[in-house]
Amino acid sequence: MPKYKGFKKSFNLYAEALKYLPSGVSSNARLWRAGICPPGLPCTLFVKRAKGAYIWDVDGNRYIDYRLGYGPVILGHNYSKVSSAVHEAEKLGAVYAAGHEMEIKVAKKLCSIIPSAEMVRFSNTGTEATMNAIRIARAATKKDKVIKFEGHFHGTHDYLLWSTQPPFDWPLRKHNQTPHQQSLGIPEAIKETILVERWNNFESIEKTVRENQDKVAAIITEPIMGNSAAIMPKDGYLKHLRELCDRHDILLIFDEVKTGFRADLGGAQRLFKVTPDIAAIAKAMGNGYPVSAIVGKKEYMDLVGPGKVSHGGTYSSNPVSLAAVYATIQEMERKSVIDRVNRFGRKLMEGLNEVLNDLGIPHIINGIPAMFQIAFTNKSELREWRDLEFCELKMYPLLQADLMGRGVMTDADIEEPIFLSYSHKQKEIDQTLEAYQKACDECWQKIIKEVRKLNSI
Ligand code: PLP
Repeated sequence: MPKYKGFKKSFNLYAEALKYLPSGVSSNARLWRAGICPPGLPCTLFVKRAKGAYIWDVDGNRYIDYRLGYGPVILGHNYSKVSSAVHEAEKLGAVYAAGHEMEIKVAKKLCSIIPSAEMVRFSNTGTEATMNAIRIARAATKKDKVIKFEGHFHGTHDYLLWSTQPPFDWPLRKHNQTPHQQSLGIPEAIKETILVERWNNFESIEKTVRENQDKVAAIITEPIMGNSAAIMPKDGYLKHLRELCDRHDILLIFDEVKTGFRADLGGAQRLFKVTPDIAAIAKAMGNGYPVSAIVGKKEYMDLVGPGKVSHGGTYSSNPVSLAAVYATIQEMERKSVIDRVNRFGRKLMEGLNEVLNDLGIPHIINGIPAMFQIAFTNKSELREWRDLEFCELKMYPLLQADLMGRGVMTDADIEEPIFLSYSHKQKEIDQTLEAYQKACDECWQKIIKEVRKLNSI
């Protein structure tokens, strides 16, 4: 195990935070593995600053950051063009409770880039965007139920916080799975408004849709499983969902909170050439500033307004956040950011594959260059949440702790992908591959032992 500068300050701040912040954090997800600390690390890290591809903790440890705030940072931390735009906007005031030119400029831009975007409403978080998207779908279809998939996360509102991470021994049915409530405090009655399916399974979704077509308003899906090891859609699966929706008067909603401005400038919908009716976009669109958008076809978006579908928010279309969005998009277009992220992401994926092959570690790598994950498994492909049961999960915190000692920051879970930004270049990729080589070399005996155990299940 490599040496750290130590985590004394992080440990002390965590102890202090526990007195004032429930569980010591402001978002449950910030606790490594729901509070199970990787060896030698505090349960959450306290950060001093971030710049480019790097993040520094309060103890002075520097890491190449592959968490990137869970995905928003597409250009790099504290990216000068975006920071300057934000500072300029902030001089003109932070909130107006009135319209402003930038919201029209950004909305126009989104409509020119994102295939499903004919109109736009801005919000602040991915949670708000998906919550409003399903409200619009319910209003448009005059139906109540929404189909979601196991292992897909759409934010923390009550309507979709079901079966995001169901236990692997959660009863398996032929189709239409029992929803697993992911938080205390969600009204039981909401269970009646959702139907849960396994992803990438063509037949079971079809059966559920056919049996419930008169009740289903929308199917909501992440086009790539950004909260479950970056599992990809099977060939034709998204198209299958599109066709099912068309056939049964159901709206297709893509949750592009993670894939928007990351899978492609126009999101996964442009990458896969499947256009949803409505999409929720957030994270990368603002390179780290709090902003989201509900975009969609005019006939559905036009339902939003007084006396119709309610959507609001004191901070919706916040001028400072929208200045960040505009600067981010301009830079992404000018510099062909996605091409470069893809180029270096591909190098990292291929390099990691080689490292793991050389060490004889059974694995597969899922996802796209800008957002991918390694799964330690003997399976030849992962298709859905329940496949994660056949991956070695205990190694992630060990690997993370080791990698952090070598200056590389990944997550402690298989669920959260490795993210890349425009600021990750050859130097960072080389350093990362060397760190992985050494970290995996250190851990490989253990990994192989664990994978063999799984193999014999
Ligand atoms: N949808 C997806 C796919 C996400 O990954 C997330 C957050 O990670 C959300 C929605 C919720 O976004 P937010 O945390 O901004 O509310």
